[in-house]
Amino acid sequence: MGQLQLENVRKSFGNAEVIKGVSLDIADGEFVVFVGPSGCGKSTLLRMIAGLEEITDGTVSIDGTVVNTLAPVKRGIAMVFQSYALYPHMSVYENIAFPLRVDKMSKDEVETRVRRASGILQLDERLQHKPGQLSGGQRQRVAIGRAIVREPKVFLFDEPLSNLDAALRAEMRVELSKLHGDLGATMIYVTHDQVEAMTMADRIVVLDGGIVSQVGTPLELYHKPRNLFVAGFIGNPK
Ligand code: ADP
Ligand code: MG
Repeated sequence: MGQLQLENVRKSFGNAEVIKGVSLDIADGEFVVFVGPSGCGKSTLLRMIAGLEEITDGTVSIDGTVVNTLAPVKRGIAMVFQSYALYPHMSVYENIAFPLRVDKMSKDEVETRVRRASGILQLDERLQHKPGQLSGGQRQRVAIGRAIVREPKVFLFDEPLSNLDAALRAEMRVELSKLHGDLGATMIYVTHDQVEAMTMADRIVVLDGGIVSQVGTPLELYHKPRNLFVAGFIGNPK
């Protein structure tokens, strides 16, 4: 399961309120894309869901349980960032296995999990390579491997492809959609790439100035943008 509920979530840094009451229901297995201008609070919202940032007010629930004060590792959530720090001296296998070693999982179970993750990500042939011997797309896949190896219920992606060139982005877009299909996990994906949002999302959440401006399927937002900002982003100026 990976049902996610945000109720009137708020975040202040000092006197500045940057998330101003966000409520959202995300179904188990749904692929939801967050879009919005730089500084509107996308990363802050993800970090609160992941448990990396304290929630000032409101609640975040997973499968019906409030997780506001639950430690990040206990939430069944994995987060993939834009800048992925792989360990250069470790093999691909060891990089992917690392989170499980931290969890003190048995050697056999580690092997099973790493093989499963590398199969999904088509990294089987690369397990003994070092990150320096890989392409940008392969390195990003290793970073994703490190997230999926824990077999979380929910994945949070914060602009994971923005450091890649256009061709690789297109390739990874397809791979991430396939990954979503294979795992059936809930995914929240932040991007400012319109094509990624339109092609990958079950639903798009448009954030603006710390509030939800509109939520809908890509087609709903395209045909019935609620305001000029949504219209401008989705690409239908009418
Ligand atoms: P986005 O990811 O949409 O670009 P962020 O969530 O990173 O936006 O930031 C939202 C707002 O919160 C911005 O105004 C940013 O400057 C502010 N902010 C983010 N993190 C901090 C922090 N640790 N301390 C103070 N302000 C922060
Ligand atoms: Mg951000």
